[in-house]
Amino acid sequence: MLKLHVLASGSRGNAAIVENGRTGQGVLVDCGICKREFLDRAATCGFDLSGLAAVVITHDHGDHVKGLGVVLRGLAKAGVRPAVYASEAVLAASAPLRDAVASVGVSCRVFAAGDRLPLAGLAVRPFATSHDAAASFGFRFDEPVPRVEEGGAPEVAADALGFVTDTGFMTDEASRVLAGVRLLALESNHDDRMLREGPYPYPVKQRIASDRGHLSNEQAARALVDLVHEGLEAVVAMHVSQENNTYRLPRETLERALAEASPALAPQVRVTVAFQDRPVTVA
Ligand SMILES: [Zn+2]
Ligand SMILES: [Zn+2]
Repeated sequence: MLKLHVLASGSRGNAAIVENGRTGQGVLVDCGICKREFLDRAATCGFDLSGLAAVVITHDHGDHVKGLGVVLRGLAKAGVRPAVYASEAVLAASAPLRDAVASVGVSCRVFAAGDRLPLAGLAVRPFATSHDAAASFGFRFDEPVPRVEEGGAPEVAADALGFVTDTGFMTDEASRVLAGVRLLALESNHDDRMLREGPYPYPVKQRIASDRGHLSNEQAARALVDLVHEGLEAVVAMHVSQENNTYRLPRETLERALAEASPALAPQVRVTVAFQDRPVTVA
């Protein structure tokens, strides 16, 4: 079974670990928090960092990469050297990312949308999102169905987790790739009215609300209604703005949309929210 540990989520810094519950190995998605927070929060979540097999980077914005160097160096001192993956364009655009991997003497590995990366005993599939970065990606994590030998044990059901943040809208590709997951980490960045009436300068408001900005609570609700199926057990609202949202609104908006669109399925879907300042585990 898969577990998601969101160590931090929001515009001040992002980091999340997808854990392969069978092996204790994990993949870190982004690293925009400092070493102290990273180590403390991973420990709070009960994730043993010696199992950290890889890091995948969604995009080149600072809130997703600024802590990578200090964290990789801290891990290297403890003998942990995860492989680091980013897209070609993100790698070219991010000096902090290149410096971070160089500082521990490794080279960044490159992925493209549609790849299937074998990491931590999982199949990790990047897909393109729509954001004002050099390039940006979400990921699907599949725990592959173990091969069944002839006359052997029956098939064990596969597990799957979807992860999508920092996207101005749900692309067709994202909707297609995320279909059928059991756990879903879904951006629910802002409330439209709070953004409109809030303190940000007009160009920043426009950027956030644009097709290359961030998903609003309402957009997240529509995406969730599209993706809900009888195997969906939990959704985590991600990258919640501290200026243009509350931690209550995404949960209410997603729960209400589910109850209206799929009253039969809504009771089985847990809706939780990821925080900037404390970790959350969903399994
Ligand atoms: Zn971000
Ligand atoms: Zn971003």
